[in-house]
Amino acid sequence: MKQAAHGEPPATERLDRATDLPLDAHLHTDLSPDSNVLIDVYAAEAAERGVAEIAITDHVDFLPGYAAYRYSTFEERERSVRQAAARWAERGVAIRFGCELTYERAVEDDVRDHLERHRYDYTIGSIHQGLDSVYHPRRVAAWCSGRSLGEIVRPYFDEVLAAARSGLFDTIGHLDMVKRYLYPLVKPADLAAAPELYEPLLAALVESGTTLEVNTSGLRQPPAETYPSAVVVARFRELGGRAVTAGSDAHRADCFAYALEAGYRVVADAGFEVVTFGRGAGRLHLSLPERFST
Ligand SMILES: [Zn+2]
Ligand SMILES: [Zn+2]
Repeated sequence: MKQAAHGEPPATERLDRATDLPLDAHLHTDLSPDSNVLIDVYAAEAAERGVAEIAITDHVDFLPGYAAYRYSTFEERERSVRQAAARWAERGVAIRFGCELTYERAVEDDVRDHLERHRYDYTIGSIHQGLDSVYHPRRVAAWCSGRSLGEIVRPYFDEVLAAARSGLFDTIGHLDMVKRYLYPLVKPADLAAAPELYEPLLAALVESGTTLEVNTSGLRQPPAETYPSAVVVARFRELGGRAVTAGSDAHRADCFAYALEAGYRVVADAGFEVVTFGRGAGRLHLSLPERFST
């Protein structure tokens, strides 16, 4: 059964149309429970708009309370992406087979087992909200009441920290999407003013060699900034971070590459000249277009 992509705004007349970019590294298709988009729709957009590489990163969940639990099989997802990659290779779009795995410490063994048995081009580890999450809309106000900012974000950030330390993933997706769950009880500016909360997460990414994702879905959601924000991406660089990537996290056709120009600007302003994609020997470094060097 399909679910609405939670918190997405209604279709607007014209969403941002980024063009001439090396990569959109985070896209959901009809093999995710919260998307109906066919791969070819994204590929056609990529060809038309000069986005050279795209990664299909459908959800993989490990607990029954999560929507993607047993939603699609590895084999279905791989076949869908590989066949599309063959169709589009000669039309100038490279399509990579990725996934977005929902991480929490309770399922770390399941994640490890899955990744040992299945081969992807690209893996995103993300923290999402389970049914019993303290950030559920019915519980979040009570959770925030009387707690410090550090206490409020801890359940989310502790899982991010563990995901980064695990070394299981090529990248950590939407590092601080908790600010979407907390809005407007906690404002993005409140988090921006507390860089100390982020530093252990960023240090863990540096230490494990995990890429930081600049996820632009926050620019179409109430926080109105990337996950994480520009100041956090810059701090990652200062702490020794060398690998970032960028993705729109589209669940709808009109969100393909959404606000990705702004996402790449965040990457460039933090001092990065490339985005990094994949891992190990197959890791690719894709140069930012010339216009970002000014
Ligand atoms: Zn996600
Ligand atoms: Zn996603």
